[in-house]
Amino acid sequence: MKLFDVYPLMNVTPVKAKDCILWDENGKEYLDLYGGHAVISIGHAHPHYVQKITEQINNIGFYSNSVQIPIQTELAEKLGKLSGYDDYTLFLCNSGAEANENAAKLASFHTGKDRIIAFNGAFHGRTSGTVALTDNPKIVAPFNAHHKVSFVDYNIDAIKEIIAGGDVAAVIYEPIQGVGGIILPSDEFVQELRTVCTENGVILIADEVQSGYGRSGKFFAHQHSNIKADLITMAKGMGNGFPIGGVLISPEFKASYGLLGTTFGGNHLACAAAVAVLDVIEQENLVENAKEIGEYIGIQLNKFPKIQEVRGRGSMIGIEFDFPINELKNNLLTKHNIFVGYAGTNVIRLLPPLTITKQYVDKFISALETEINIIING
Ligand code: PMP
Repeated sequence: MKLFDVYPLMNVTPVKAKDCILWDENGKEYLDLYGGHAVISIGHAHPHYVQKITEQINNIGFYSNSVQIPIQTELAEKLGKLSGYDDYTLFLCNSGAEANENAAKLASFHTGKDRIIAFNGAFHGRTSGTVALTDNPKIVAPFNAHHKVSFVDYNIDAIKEIIAGGDVAAVIYEPIQGVGGIILPSDEFVQELRTVCTENGVILIADEVQSGYGRSGKFFAHQHSNIKADLITMAKGMGNGFPIGGVLISPEFKASYGLLGTTFGGNHLACAAAVAVLDVIEQENLVENAKEIGEYIGIQLNKFPKIQEVRGRGSMIGIEFDFPINELKNNLLTKHNIFVGYAGTNVIRLLPPLTITKQYVDKFISALETEINIIING
């Protein structure tokens, strides 16, 4: 049988990984500044992570959600403490799209309304429901219950106007748009959005699938704007590669939880992975490290020609160039052995493990300098 044809992002096959380093089948070493698309939070094969998962599978790897799973409670308590959302409840599922599906469903059930406002450039997943919230001209949404308003114009009036229609259940937003190219709304816009939602009984969903779990230099990126969301979705960095997703649900919610459920969600092994991630984030001060590294990258890139803008927070950085970056991206990989992500035609996205050090950043900066000099000097 042939595999379904996923698009090959990079022509390298990693077979082994440790912290921020990947090795291919020939033993060639690569620096991972892509983090498997913001998934690797505590670094590859962290000893504590490996130990926790191994211990768990030796005890019990999976049973059913119809029995008590004590490690779920451990995860919820730890997550509440580190995120500052102690009073919320945690629903566990398996992926980012599933978390968003459930958040949308909860909002709709809670309000009795069915329209959800999403933003231009948004990415919320590829399932039937979330694909309709995702802004991708190549995708034909199977239903059409959603508006898309501009994220960059910060047009609060457009949102007010749609809400005035009376059928809006929720607004969903990425505190830092990832796939969209590392786009940040202003804190003032987010605060206004929060106020408008509260005044109109509209649920505010923060999609922290990519920006959450310390990546932005705060536990959740929306916390930079000093607001609380009603529902917060998460996945990628939560399991450091083990599939797990979650929704934090405000205590105000009166939705029946019979509405939510999944066979695999929150299974023992996934929770062991997620608890290990939180242990390491806490013990190694990784939220603070992400913040410092982000600032360091910003300062280092300041001096570069050919860069139009450096955006982002913490370990979630977009570098916009004034030329198409396809060749640059390939050269970084093939000549300098560095994995980076990209968005559109001219943005490089850095989503390294939160364990990243200045020494690794310096390697990237020096490689970038070499390549930009070649471009400038022909
Ligand atoms: N939301 C955001 C912000 C994402 O970046 C992604 C994945 N790129 C998703 C949702 C979907 O997550 P998953 O692929 O785990 O379904």
